[in-house]
Amino acid sequence: MLLSKSRAWAEIDLGRIAHNVEEVRKLIPKQSKIMGIVKANAYGHGDVECARALQACGVDFFGVSSVDEAMHLRMNGIDSKILILGYTPPEHFSQLVKYDLIQTLVDLPYAKKLDAYAQANDCVIQAHAKADTGMNRIGVVVQDETYHIEELFAMYAMKHVHVCGIFSHFSVSDSQDEDDLRYTRHQIELFDRVLADLRAAGVDPGTTHLQNSYGILNYPDLCYDYVRPGLLYMGVTSDDAIKINTDPHFLPILSLKANVTMVKWLHEGDSVSYGRHFRAKRKTKVATVSIGYADGVPRELSNQDFEVLLHGRRVKIIGNICMDQMMLDVTEEDDVKEGDIVTLIGEDGGAIASVDAMSRASHTINNETLTRFSVRLPRIYKKQG
Ligand SMILES: *Cc1c(COP(=O)(O)O)cnc(C)c1O
Repeated sequence: MLLSKSRAWAEIDLGRIAHNVEEVRKLIPKQSKIMGIVKANAYGHGDVECARALQACGVDFFGVSSVDEAMHLRMNGIDSKILILGYTPPEHFSQLVKYDLIQTLVDLPYAKKLDAYAQANDCVIQAHAKADTGMNRIGVVVQDETYHIEELFAMYAMKHVHVCGIFSHFSVSDSQDEDDLRYTRHQIELFDRVLADLRAAGVDPGTTHLQNSYGILNYPDLCYDYVRPGLLYMGVTSDDAIKINTDPHFLPILSLKANVTMVKWLHEGDSVSYGRHFRAKRKTKVATVSIGYADGVPRELSNQDFEVLLHGRRVKIIGNICMDQMMLDVTEEDDVKEGDIVTLIGEDGGAIASVDAMSRASHTINNETLTRFSVRLPRIYKKQG
């Protein structure tokens, strides 16, 4: 049990999901639908809460990374279609049947194993075939030199695995580099060639889908049955510095906040935190804040003048960030006191602290920053924007 707003917390504005879903819908063709990717606890935003908010917007299909994540949705009343985007080990095949889940076919030997299991247990398991057009992670390889369409035919011919869809995944859809643009275009061609070859042989490919968030932003005109956004309904991209082809207006749904626990004055020359890397050059007022790297704040933000918000103004982190606490220089701020709220991500009095700034300063992408926010942080849900 987590007490709300006890020391540090994340606020999730579910009302903004509806706005973000509409922004996605404005980009894509009318016929295409949205598969909400809620893997990794919806990148830390809360899988069940996000799935419910997405369902309220008409989203009828969800993608997760594992059978455990899918079961968590089912146990919390999410009854839409669920695709497991990754591998399910054979010892958990029974859960696919029990919870009515759709399994991704990693490769042909894996599909055969699943088919044998279903036959032995006298059931039919729903699956989507994965076509590997260039990511080289999972899927039947359908690339120039190794175009294994026959393996896909074999999957579709299975009696106890019902292949009701097929998908692929982009590896550089975020890039505007000439070579990367060519690579992505080729991935699209290969996927289309697979669909054409299946249809020419009288095989119905079923539900088709290809685009993740950057696939939607940079290739919005592609027309498959579904698109698979994660980040976009959360209102962010991986990295705001990356140029995109479209101009949507997304609203970030997550804020990260913590309490000031103590305020004191340092003398010139006094140090702050482990390693004594910060030394006061003047009389300095310090606020201690109850959030640290165990909550998912990157320790890399230490000692680089990284700014967070207090009273609607920007203040700097000083000294090493600790596991559960960190310190701010609040010399210029009046009336700072215990219980004041510090905003690490979000809005405070018109000022904005973005997850993007945090990611850039810690040399990673927003996907990683968001998914690292720990289970220790209570998530507080707001229904309206
Ligand atoms: C994670 C994932 C997505 C969603 O990616 P975003 O960049 O967050 O939109 C889509 N498809 C697959 C296969 C994924 O693994």
